[in-house]
Amino acid sequence: LVKVVAAGIAPSLLVFWHLGHLPLLPMTLGHEISGVVEEVGPGVARVQPGDRVRVHPNLTCRACEYCLTDREPMCIACSMIGSGVFGPDAMPLYQRYHEGGLAEYVRAPAWSLDALPHGVSFAVGSKVHDIANGLRALKLAQLRQGATLLVTAATGAVGSATLRMAHLFGATRVIAVARSRERLITAQTLSELPVDVVALDELPDQWEAKQGLTAAIRELAPQGVDAVIDYFPPSTGAATWQSIAAMRTGATAVIIGGNVAPVPVPTNVIMFNCWRIVGSRNCTRVDAREVLDLIAGTRLRADDLITHRYSLREVNSAIQAMQERAGRTWMIVVEPEQPRVE
Ligand SMILES: [Zn+2]
Repeated sequence: LVKVVAAGIAPSLLVFWHLGHLPLLPMTLGHEISGVVEEVGPGVARVQPGDRVRVHPNLTCRACEYCLTDREPMCIACSMIGSGVFGPDAMPLYQRYHEGGLAEYVRAPAWSLDALPHGVSFAVGSKVHDIANGLRALKLAQLRQGATLLVTAATGAVGSATLRMAHLFGATRVIAVARSRERLITAQTLSELPVDVVALDELPDQWEAKQGLTAAIRELAPQGVDAVIDYFPPSTGAATWQSIAAMRTGATAVIIGGNVAPVPVPTNVIMFNCWRIVGSRNCTRVDAREVLDLIAGTRLRADDLITHRYSLREVNSAIQAMQERAGRTWMIVVEPEQPRVE
């Protein structure tokens, strides 16, 4: 039993709800959780009351080929605490642990808890999952040293973390794509690297029909970009594939945002360009622990990515802020009103 100190808010909460991935409604949402162990069950030795922890939300079998090779989101038993069901064999683990972290307390398997290292705050600890989603995408992009990386929806929570980490994975230049120039300009300062921006709101009329986004990216990178990490959400239409069309031969696209737009190009375009198109649902335990190590070792700064904090009573305002994403909005956490242990 974990006393929640911070719980992250992520767009996937609502996306999975609308897609029908939440079979046990009503339920408490919230898969990004940090707090203090309050009680342990019989036989639990790896944590004890008082420990500062984060909850790794992936519920999986921990024994299959995927689970044993750092790919546990692909497990047929995969579901997430406080979120949805993704594999056909997710019950009964999900039945027992589906209630999430937007609450004073959360129950989690002892094996799902990671100790929060000294120097990692509860707020950052709750967002390790989102940051690790970005780290996973950067790994899958397989960037060479000196690569130009394109990040779409770069002003969202995972996008901002990706800008922050891109230099650790070989990129030396970033092109950031999102709706608003104002927010893109603000996000530029998150990266150690030079960041060029492309704002969808500024593209010429009918850009969707006329490959306007591809043209704008190609102006900045005439040879094409080395990789695209795509975080565009379901309703973004042509933007994902127009970003991919700006890749150079042999480049990699990592798809993680969930855009539902159909692939608009003949399949052999992928063949002739020797592109790698890689899907990723979320991060693994290994990714999350690497993020904790990077932050604890001061190679990764994350405190300033937490821009909005709300009490549990204000959770609807937190969700509204996430949907509006006005100005400098990167990561949002909810902190139940209770004595702080930090
Ligand atoms: Zn498994």
